[in-house]
Amino acid sequence: MALEKSKKIMPHPAEYVARQDRLKRSLEGIFGIVQSPQGYDVLGEHAVRLAKAVDCARVPSIGADGVIAEVPDWHRQRIIPIVSLYPSEVAYTTMDGIAQEQYNAVLREPDLDNAVKWDLAVMYFRNTKKENHHRRELSIPAQRSGKTTSSVVNMTRKGQENIAAGVIGQPSIVVNERIIQLVEMIDTLSHEMIHGADYLDYPVWMMDRDGMAEQHRLSYELRAHAIGWRVGRIALDQGYRMIGGRSMLASSEAVESIRQRVNGDFLSPNAFDPNEELIEALDDAGLKSIYS
Ligand SMILES: [Zn+2]
Repeated sequence: MALEKSKKIMPHPAEYVARQDRLKRSLEGIFGIVQSPQGYDVLGEHAVRLAKAVDCARVPSIGADGVIAEVPDWHRQRIIPIVSLYPSEVAYTTMDGIAQEQYNAVLREPDLDNAVKWDLAVMYFRNTKKENHHRRELSIPAQRSGKTTSSVVNMTRKGQENIAAGVIGQPSIVVNERIIQLVEMIDTLSHEMIHGADYLDYPVWMMDRDGMAEQHRLSYELRAHAIGWRVGRIALDQGYRMIGGRSMLASSEAVESIRQRVNGDFLSPNAFDPNEELIEALDDAGLKSIYS
């Protein structure tokens, strides 16, 4: 087992520089799109939120030990680190735990009891100490174009098995280095950046207030797909080339067309409602995996 573990493949630091450049170019592409008149027309207030998220994006280098460069004082800042990995690779982050902004949101939560807040406080302060040498493994499944990941603290109620509340930590984004086309990277990054902003803005989930975890997740996924797909479309309109067919963009398009058919206008208040009809339509189309 120990031998297996040491066999993990990590990106070569010198080779990784090219990936950082491509990530930066994709982020610049998104920033240009959301700040263009067309971006604002199509995305409305989501354009502003995405621009803010891109502003928080960080593209750290990776060391020979596979650990990504820590952003100094990361937990006191609003940052969203991004790494690009092949499905066969792993990297490690020390920027894991609860960031200050999230901790503040926990403290503001009137329905979380104090014992829970104390536990989270311990976690927050522990994870901000360098001497902990805490690192979390990052990777990407072959079939995914990107993912946003963090530690999660789940809470159950006394005497009950079901999870009643959860607090999500500092987000990290991993994108699939197999993505060849810049447009696909722009769609994927837009989608994941929205998740990153969601993690920082709404770190607390409570079943009594927010509904079942699965439905809550679906609502967030619908929004991320709707935004990612639109940014990808605008990129094509603005002259980004797509050579050959779409591979990964296809799922965003499928999800968004179903959402639009059932819930209507993207800018309407109920656009991302996780209702029964929508759940059924997604399940029928074989898209259940986007939220479950
Ligand atoms: Zn997603």
